[in-house]
Amino acid sequence: MSTPALKIYNTLTRTKEAFEPIDRNNVRMYVCGPTVYDYAHIGNARPLIVFDVLYRLLRHLYGESHVKYVRNITDVDDKINARAAQRGITIRELTEETNKVFQEDVRALGCLEPDVQPRATEHIAQMVAIIERLIASGHAYAADGHVLFDVPSMPAYGRLSRRSLDEMLAGARVDVAPYKRGDMDFVLWKPSKEGEPGWESPWGRGRPGWHIECSAMSWKHLGETFDIHGGGIDLVFPHHENEIAQSCCAFGRDVMANYWMHNGFLQVEGEKMSKSLGNFVTIHELLHTEKFGGRKWPGEVLRLAMLRTHYRQPIDWTVKALEEADSVIDDWGRATSDLTPTAPTESFLNALTDDLNLSQAIAEMHKLKKVDASALLACTQMLGLKLPHFHSSHVEIPDPEVSSSHTSVNVEDLISARLAARAAKNWAESDRIRDELAAKGIALKDNKDGTTSWEVKR
Ligand code: AMP
Ligand code: ZN
Repeated sequence: MSTPALKIYNTLTRTKEAFEPIDRNNVRMYVCGPTVYDYAHIGNARPLIVFDVLYRLLRHLYGESHVKYVRNITDVDDKINARAAQRGITIRELTEETNKVFQEDVRALGCLEPDVQPRATEHIAQMVAIIERLIASGHAYAADGHVLFDVPSMPAYGRLSRRSLDEMLAGARVDVAPYKRGDMDFVLWKPSKEGEPGWESPWGRGRPGWHIECSAMSWKHLGETFDIHGGGIDLVFPHHENEIAQSCCAFGRDVMANYWMHNGFLQVEGEKMSKSLGNFVTIHELLHTEKFGGRKWPGEVLRLAMLRTHYRQPIDWTVKALEEADSVIDDWGRATSDLTPTAPTESFLNALTDDLNLSQAIAEMHKLKKVDASALLACTQMLGLKLPHFHSSHVEIPDPEVSSSHTSVNVEDLISARLAARAAKNWAESDRIRDELAAKGIALKDNKDGTTSWEVKR
């Protein structure tokens, strides 16, 4: 089987391009990570899941040890300061607690850990070094304890977002400040007051702006130029535009990353899910509470619900979409139980390598369910989807009452007896059998088509 070539839609050129890594033995990807002041919402989960699938695909194509994925943790930010003060805890306590839940959330969503998860507060030295280079090369200036990037000093500014300076000025909420030379100039460093987090620097005690953090962390872990930079579509302007300005001007390069990839929004009733609009559901509450649709949702259901829409299209987040994903997961689980995975098929890989065409890839998986369930299992593993395990035959089940012995139960026989009881409207007997099985740790699930399947609850 030949390995299909990867094609990626590049926001820089607005076209789908053949992916050519700078070094096939060291394929490098940076994705902007969370600001750890509050639980992540399911909109934030979209880039986590999309770029995890890309990471898995890159590892499949180039070899596990030849891919480096960096996703940062922003642990210095004014939103963090405000939240810590409001809750009466230290900044460190807040960021540690939030990061811990974040890591649990992404694990539950089936995402692999990135190779490096750098923290902004551990890269202040790199930020200062980049700012010094920018000042020395005439792309930044210090004023009143602030350092600003001089936007008109970079003729290529606006290349990613394709906006002219006039359009940016018209569209952006511009902070007017006496220390700014140009309206679009943005903050690289700002002074910290007493009680605010701060680091000593050539410009006095202060803290970094948000954009410089990513330029510093990607430089430290991936070098001056790398392959793929990802994030949500809202980051194109100003965040990614500013990252490019900082890195290109500091290192005298034309490009920071060769391919820029952006996922579309997850929406609620046509609007972006966001903290500021208040229309958000956290990953944590979907996993652990029954607030959304009256039940808990396993990570793999959330993951599949996300992957069924092309990553660049908007997704409308509904309970119905979760129910549909849930039934597909069950269906695939039942079809693949007790099988050993073989390998993802060529048509599946062709779809995935075509700019992550997951709708096509999933359509292939539905076909495989009928003809080659072992290959289907390999495809689900490639997508990082954990399937529930449904047993199909006679098994040994530990008897909770006699812990040293094992009782052999023919579950299928009991299920048949229960179906017969139900057909005879003997509900007492039907419930008794359900309870007998439940006591042995076996959960029954009645399906729409009149059959019953079961799984062992761990
Ligand atoms: P933030 O914490 O807002 O910086 O967001 C973290 C990541 O989630 C960024 O890559 C954002 O682009 C992405 N993101 C935020 N909201 C959404 C949304 N509603 N849909 C998809 N991606 C989002
Ligand atoms: Zn970033």
